Amino acid sequence: MDTRTGLPIVGMVGGGQLARMTQQAAIALGQSLHVLATSMDESAALVTPNVTLGAHTDLDALTAFADGCDVLTFDHEHVPTEHLRALVERGVVVRPGPEALLHAQDKLVMRHKLASLGLPVPPFAAVSEVDDVVKFGDEHGWPCVLKAARGGYDGRGVWMLNGPESARELVPRLLEWGTPLLVEERVAMRRELAAVVARSPFGQGGCWPVVETVQSNGICVEVLAPAPGLDAGRAEDAQALALRIAAELGVVGVLAVELFETAAGFVVNELAMRPHNSGHWTIEGAETSQFEQHLRAVLDYPLGATEPRAPAVVMANVLGAPQPPAMSTDERLHHLLARYRDAHVHYYGKQERPGRKIGHVTLLGLRMADVRARAKLAAHWLSHAEWLDGYDIHTGTSTGINTGERT
Ligand code: ADP
Repeated sequence: MDTRTGLPIVGMVGGGQLARMTQQAAIALGQSLHVLATSMDESAALVTPNVTLGAHTDLDALTAFADGCDVLTFDHEHVPTEHLRALVERGVVVRPGPEALLHAQDKLVMRHKLASLGLPVPPFAAVSEVDDVVKFGDEHGWPCVLKAARGGYDGRGVWMLNGPESARELVPRLLEWGTPLLVEERVAMRRELAAVVARSPFGQGGCWPVVETVQSNGICVEVLAPAPGLDAGRAEDAQALALRIAAELGVVGVLAVELFETAAGFVVNELAMRPHNSGHWTIEGAETSQFEQHLRAVLDYPLGATEPRAPAVVMANVLGAPQPPAMSTDERLHHLLARYRDAHVHYYGKQERPGRKIGHVTLLGLRMADVRARAKLAAHWLSHAEWLDGYDIHTGTSTGINTGERT
């Protein structure tokens, strides 16, 4: 308890951009997030006075940090499950708890659990030797998808295997390194969607509109809210699916359910039990942001309204440039703010590296096609990104940024 304010203290393990944006929401609720970070120049450590330095893999550091907090939550899912269980045994309030979080930590555990609940997942198998993969591919068809069960993010830890030869080349090496693996069918999908919901210990649930997530090289580059052309019935099915998963697994906080849309319906790809990239649009685009909602949920406060604030909202990620850019970030931002007065820019205070998520831009409007074109242009401009997907920021004079470089 914070004796000055009389409010409980939330501790977040991990000091990345999710903790940074949670701190922004915490301020309005009278909170100051306590953050366990690994260095003082991490995204969230830069913006909160209550930083503890320590590794999320070190039980002593976790315990000392948790003892100063009323509730412990996370900006990533990499805390070892046995440490979380030890904290619970000690009496720490861990939200989401380890038995729920396990399903966001381990893709194989998650696939088994959802399949046992009769929920739609791709056909999959555990891998303990290369023949497991060859057998699976021969039965279900090549190419198939090999995944690290733990530790992957942004597509690292996902490999497309074209046939038995590529399996024989890759799988033994990964097994030798001790990577726990699963193999699954390559889903013939129309597109990727996400249903983001929140659940409180009281059992209250809330869901935002289902979004479309657009990926490039395994990284989410755009989020369109609501998912264009998704009829109301199917959107409700996706929301109900996500709320059911939240309830069945006992999730507390935000749950993002990444979905593949196929001709036959939805298939669950991945679960995240924390604020998620597919929910960044809610900061300006919804009545309650995912960051505030996560705090409300872990504090067991009533959840906030989730209605969108505009018919079309688009979030586009700003990625680090491939080589040292000719024009400074400062100058680019200056041009952007002059040209796009309604753009909501978020930088994470991160050093730029090629392809790294360093920020995002959100735009709201009436027509998805227009909003999307502008958001993409804005984010590509800040990403110094003529290099992305052949997209040329200089096209479209009505929406383009006048750089003075070309006319
Ligand atoms: P990560 O945890 O690293 O984000 P994901 O499991 O979400 O990895 O996979 C990353 C991307 O790879 C997905 O967004 C999707 O584009 C593609 N992918 C993953 N699994 C499959 C699959 N079974 N079939 C087709 N594409 C897949």
